[in-house]
Amino acid sequence: MTSGRTFDIAIVGAGIMGLAHAYAAAKRGWSVIVFDRSLRASGASIRNFGMVWPIGQPHGTMLELALRSRQIWQEVLECAKLPYRPDGSLHVVYRKDEAEVAKEFAEIAPALGYECQWLDRDGVLERTGAVREDGLLGGMFSPVELTVDPPRTIAALADFLTEQFHVVFRFGCAITHIDAPVVESADERWQASRVIVCSGADFETLFPATYAAAGLTRVKLQMMRTAPQARGWQLGPALAAGLTLRFYPAFETCKTLPALKRRISEETPEYDRWGIHGLVSQLSTGELTLGDSHEYGLAVDIFNKQEIDELMLRYIGGFLYAPDLSIAQRWYGVYAKHPEKPYLSIDPVPGVRIVTSPGGSGMTLSFAIGERTIGEFCR
Ligand SMILES: Cc1cc2nc3c(=O)[nH]c(=O)nc-3n(C[C@H](O)[C@H](O)[C@H](O)COP(=O)(O)OP(=O)(O)OC[C@H]3O[C@@H](n4cnc5c(N)ncnc54)[C@H](O)[C@@H]3O)c2cc1C
Repeated sequence: MTSGRTFDIAIVGAGIMGLAHAYAAAKRGWSVIVFDRSLRASGASIRNFGMVWPIGQPHGTMLELALRSRQIWQEVLECAKLPYRPDGSLHVVYRKDEAEVAKEFAEIAPALGYECQWLDRDGVLERTGAVREDGLLGGMFSPVELTVDPPRTIAALADFLTEQFHVVFRFGCAITHIDAPVVESADERWQASRVIVCSGADFETLFPATYAAAGLTRVKLQMMRTAPQARGWQLGPALAAGLTLRFYPAFETCKTLPALKRRISEETPEYDRWGIHGLVSQLSTGELTLGDSHEYGLAVDIFNKQEIDELMLRYIGGFLYAPDLSIAQRWYGVYAKHPEKPYLSIDPVPGVRIVTSPGGSGMTLSFAIGERTIGEFCR
């Protein structure tokens, strides 16, 4: 076994959670090493919409974390000269009960810390040319949300951290054992004063008993991507629609929500069965990312379901207007989720902290979670 260098902080996992922790630690001047068992990050962090989405977070601490994360994202993206879309989000509505929820939320939201407004039909059409006009009642616009290009950004952030902060990355290196301060792969060993495990949906390799006791589960999401849209065609704000209003906890505060949920479950139970809602974002190269569905359980079905893709396309086709909706890529992603907590932060042994399962909000929350962990755990 070869002995490697000693670091202040060792991080397992080079997804967005690991990168965000590395950034927070390196900014404080600590020496940092990040391990990932893959040759390049290939987990949830490169499989998502790239939406930094404070509008979905419940008001209070989680919204504050999302807004802080967004601030750090902007700082990093500007510094690393990475493309992103600061175009906000638009929830478009075509049914009266959807409009009621969106209007109610837009009315109470500013007092809760959100920056969003109700737009009538014409207001929506001024904001975007990417939605269907027939039956459109209006929408809720928020200027806060950002979209990044997940695969490009995640890869580039590792380079940025290496170049600007001398963070050491070891890809293709699975960590098999941690006995703090010692961190081991199959054939190498390092030492670190603090070890942070951001291993995403891997619950079996490190501290399996701690993961088992924590009660985490996995969530599988099916996703699609179109070919690049015609040169110059812009989505504008990232899009969501009525089904999304029943999905994010932010909207739970609306008194009009139960009636909308009831109507959807009676009229289209297939959307509830597969946890489908319709989100659309755009890469800097023009492709549209479309999704998603939610299947819960520790055992993840390796096969995608054609039925789910068809339902998602039917729903998204009802509100999205884009020059080319032919599908060029299909994939699925898996994230870890805790049944109650917005994310898990737990010390299995002294000197080691597991930080995982920001659920469907890892791109939105990770930078602020990283800052928080480093502030508390690495004093
Ligand atoms: C389809 C999909 C769409 C989503 N859309 C959004 C969105 O638009 N906005 C948003 O905010 N969130 C979104 N999310 C959620 C977000 O992507 C996740 O919360 C986030 O990526 C989790 O990051 P992570 O670093 O914990 O996990 P991952 O990205 O999975 O990274 C974990 C890494 O740890 C490595 N690893 C594991 N074990 C070891 C080991 N023993 N040794 C070395 N390396 C190890 C793995 O190889 C992996 O690279 C989406 C998720 C999915 C799946």
